[in-house]
Amino acid sequence: MNDILPEDVHKWHSVEDRARYIFELYGFSEIRTPLLEQTELFARTIGEDTDIVGKEMYTFIDKSGASVTLRPEATASVLRAVVEHSLLNQDSIQKLYSMGPMFRYERPQKGRYRQFYQINVERLGESSPLCDAETIAMAYDLVDAIGLKNITLEVNSLGCQKCRPVFRKQLKEFLQEKRDMLCKDCSRRIETNPLRVFDCKETACQEAIKDAPRIEDHLCDACRSHFNDLLQTLDALGIPFHKAPRLVRGLDYYVRTTFEIKAEGLGTQNAVAGGGRYDGLVKALGGPDVPGVGFAFGMERAIMLMKEAGPVNKGCFVVIQGGREIYRSAMALISDMRSSGLQAQAVFEKSMKSQMKRADKSGYLVCAIIGETEVAKDMVTIRDMRTSSQVQVKRALAINKIKEMIMA
Ligand code: AMP
Repeated sequence: MNDILPEDVHKWHSVEDRARYIFELYGFSEIRTPLLEQTELFARTIGEDTDIVGKEMYTFIDKSGASVTLRPEATASVLRAVVEHSLLNQDSIQKLYSMGPMFRYERPQKGRYRQFYQINVERLGESSPLCDAETIAMAYDLVDAIGLKNITLEVNSLGCQKCRPVFRKQLKEFLQEKRDMLCKDCSRRIETNPLRVFDCKETACQEAIKDAPRIEDHLCDACRSHFNDLLQTLDALGIPFHKAPRLVRGLDYYVRTTFEIKAEGLGTQNAVAGGGRYDGLVKALGGPDVPGVGFAFGMERAIMLMKEAGPVNKGCFVVIQGGREIYRSAMALISDMRSSGLQAQAVFEKSMKSQMKRADKSGYLVCAIIGETEVAKDMVTIRDMRTSSQVQVKRALAINKIKEMIMA
């Protein structure tokens, strides 16, 4: 679990702001749910035989004896809220997003933490593959908008209740032959959830499934047509993709579409967002039988990649020299700067040298200097921190000049 320090927080804000902006362009609204839910909610929706439910949940008994769990993902909580507040009665299409921390007791490593933040999108009430494509496009827009490089989109179809059991049977037979090569978990999964073997990170298991049957070859007509429509729509939207026949993802509720967006520079934990279709999940939670599709975007991984670019602080540090009267005059200007939307800071009654040092450290591109001479002439000295060049401008024009220099 990490602290998020002030030097990074502006990056978090910029990703969150971008997400809000993009999602609202697509007609989505924010929903906020509690961090804590009844344990049963996750066990029932995510699947008993997933790593999340089997090994990774922070579960405890509260003072009333109830088993509660810190949410390991958002979909179950959001759908619970939709059902509890009968939102689908108000509008049969719900387009929702949420942001916040998730908790999984995983082995911490680069890009994998025990408390991590996700931006989540849930879209209920539409079963069309066009809806899958638009949802993927929205995820792609976000990853693209924050400047991540060499983005790749992987898509797969996991079939439905009709065709998946046939495939599962074939896969089971294949895996039984390979049992000796599989790790202990996968050996157990042959009976409980053979598709999960595709997701195992063990080299021996990956080797064993090299020639495993592919789900794409077993899709029923409806699932095949859904998948083809999705791929054609992604093409039409100009979103490049790869088909990934082994992409099953770590949650059991997906049907048909699953996808992951990867970005360069993340090493093995290279998925920055992932999701898919989960028709049937709202019904399983006691709600109406409506289809759904969604994704989760990992904040830490995105921020890690953005960090390399370094911060650009667009504000003005005001260096002040003189007595109280000069300070008051400078504070009035700082107040005007803030009213006009310009970030501004000063420190009070410190030496010129120490103020200049702070101005340097602030990372701001511009610094304004106000001393007795400036106040007497009703001028402000403006210093470009990148070039150290200075100009004097009339006080009434100072804010516009600073904004102009910041934009240059
Ligand atoms: P999931 O909820 O497992 O479908 O994951 C969706 C996205 O959340 C992943 O692509 C990651 O970007 C992020 N994520 C999942 N687990 C972790 C974790 N333990 N630490 C950091 N990010 C994570």
